[in-house]
Amino acid sequence: MLYNNLSGYFREKYGKRLSKICIDGGFSCPNRDGRCGEGGCIYCGERGAGEHIDPTLSIGEQVRGALADAEAEDMFVAYFQNFTNTYAPLSVLKERYDAALIDERIKVLAIGTRPDCIDEEIAKLIASYKERCDVWVEFGLQTASDKTADKINRGYHRDAFEAAMELMKKYAIPVVVHLIVGLPDESIDDVKNTVEYINRFDLFGIKIHSIYVMRNTKLAEMYEMGEYTPPTMEEYVESAVYILTHIKPDITVHRLTGDCPRDRLVAPQWNRAKSEIINTIVYKMQLYGLSQGCKYQ
Ligand code: SF4
Repeated sequence: MLYNNLSGYFREKYGKRLSKICIDGGFSCPNRDGRCGEGGCIYCGERGAGEHIDPTLSIGEQVRGALADAEAEDMFVAYFQNFTNTYAPLSVLKERYDAALIDERIKVLAIGTRPDCIDEEIAKLIASYKERCDVWVEFGLQTASDKTADKINRGYHRDAFEAAMELMKKYAIPVVVHLIVGLPDESIDDVKNTVEYINRFDLFGIKIHSIYVMRNTKLAEMYEMGEYTPPTMEEYVESAVYILTHIKPDITVHRLTGDCPRDRLVAPQWNRAKSEIINTIVYKMQLYGLSQGCKYQ
């Protein structure tokens, strides 16, 4: 196998592929409301991801809508996607996670959040769901460089990620880390440093995102002013292949590109060609006889 993709993981564990129900849990983000920053990460849109989700629907309505045409044997991941899904009092978190887990066919609770928004009590709450289903947490690290983190206004440094990883280890909560290739002023050397950094941790999964410039973001302003140029598709593919071949062989790969909503994409235009990007990565891996972790040390 070229790399451990998520579908393969699901097939091995559940005997079939699971579908994802992307949920807007009605959370906000401390990097937008002033608690740790303002304006948010420079690439983040108004919806904090999950732009396709109807924000007027309750969590229950979102889940029931996704299950409406499902078969009895189908299985699902309830993925809290928009903004920071641990940024609320404990009782509110519990209420919202419970509101999603309303059907036995939901086999996984996945929670996207920031490492500086998770403490012992929240970790305990999340771990408690392991009695009901599988659970994982997703951290948007994006880069190991604190310098870039400041440039993209991420609002936390590596020490916060390291503390959160300790906590996740203590409560045996699997972690999926998100990386973005093409951040301002980053080169392939930064990608290499990031891979070396994440390899220090026990990760369940990785999401590799190609950067995109979305309308109404700080990054779009920088792009319009000529202060930022996104990478070419070839540069992205080179980085993605480097990441795949140097990460640990057992990490589950959840994503190989970033997906900007078509009507909000400013650049690069190659972001629209999702299949072509993935096929090119696969082709390069096959051409050079590479596989996930083949260069991991
Ligand atoms: S932490 Fe996430 S939701 Fe918050 S500003 Fe950054 S990308 Fe957006």
